[in-house]
Amino acid sequence: MLDPKANPAFDAHEQVVFFDDTALGLAGIIAVHSTALGPAAGGCRMWNYARAEDALTDVLRLSRGMTYKNAMADLPLGGGKSVLYKMGENRAACLEKFADQVEALGGRYITAEDVGASVEDMRIIARRTSYVAGMPKESGQAGGDPSPVTARGVFYCIEALLGGELTGKRIAVQGVGHVGLHLCELLAAEKANLIVSDVNTDNLERARAIGAGIAPVEDIHKIEADLFSPCALGAGLNERTIPELGAPIVCGAANNQLATEADGERLLVRGVTYAPDYVVNAGGIVNVSAEYLGEPADVVEGRIRAIATRLLRVLETAKAQGVPPNVAADRIVREKLQAARMA
Ligand code: NAD
Repeated sequence: MLDPKANPAFDAHEQVVFFDDTALGLAGIIAVHSTALGPAAGGCRMWNYARAEDALTDVLRLSRGMTYKNAMADLPLGGGKSVLYKMGENRAACLEKFADQVEALGGRYITAEDVGASVEDMRIIARRTSYVAGMPKESGQAGGDPSPVTARGVFYCIEALLGGELTGKRIAVQGVGHVGLHLCELLAAEKANLIVSDVNTDNLERARAIGAGIAPVEDIHKIEADLFSPCALGAGLNERTIPELGAPIVCGAANNQLATEADGERLLVRGVTYAPDYVVNAGGIVNVSAEYLGEPADVVEGRIRAIATRLLRVLETAKAQGVPPNVAADRIVREKLQAARMA
């Protein structure tokens, strides 16, 4: 029996909903971390976890991360997330069941794509609930797959961290899925020198086709480079990998890159500049937010560029306070949440 409160990742989440359907082979969790700033928004991850407890840990961590990401990006949204950790063969029926759960929350949670989910999936979910974004784009309106927008935000951050010049810069990218590949395309267009890894050979081939070199999965973080960009799954920066890092800067799209908060301190001690993940990877949710609020597509670009400016401000604050950037970012968010609760 899963008990959210007994899980170390529980952080006073407002609501955690478990659902399953044995006949369909479906099991999932929706976590609403905070609605202090607005409805809890965050994507749906479809992933095969080794244990149901791992899915719970992930959804609790990811939903808290969304509260922090949305607040940091000044969006009128709280933080939530969902995971579908068992999916039967009838994908559409599973997605509709999930949509019913989203609908039952009455707008407290808004879903969209995350790892394993597609725009087509969102279209199916929209048959049963209107609390969904990441839908096919309508002319002039914000919307569509958030991944290219996330990649653009990461790209602007990398550009800012490398002083605006990318030609010949060596960049190691871990994971060339939806975001990682778009990022590689943007970097390749600026003549950066790319080296990538992925467990998926089709994705690797796509990266090779745009000129990227390939490194083994277990070595990508060790590659001597100007910047390391984690764009796969979380917890890649940990006690084991940090001493082996081959780049002086880490900036990527993956959520929850630090295995523990102490890893931020570890990076600082090693002299590695860490760009906090939720500051950098907000592009997708900025796009989702504009779509959900019915805003035009052209408001998004300015907000995406603002991500890099915000990142530099967080890094300056961290330096001034003598704390790791992840700690400085968390402090900024906590102040915002506190102010919202007092208002
Ligand atoms: P994706 O599933 O399309 O891509 C992830 C890629 O990482 C896949 O190609 C997968 O094969 C690869 N991978 C898995 N394990 C790996 C490993 N050990 N080493 C190397 N590669 C590995 O997902 P995505 O949408 O590109 O998201 C990537 C990351 O960015 C995730 O952590 C996601 O939560 C985060 N993120 C995504 C968005 C978005 O808009 N899609 C927004 C914010 C954050």
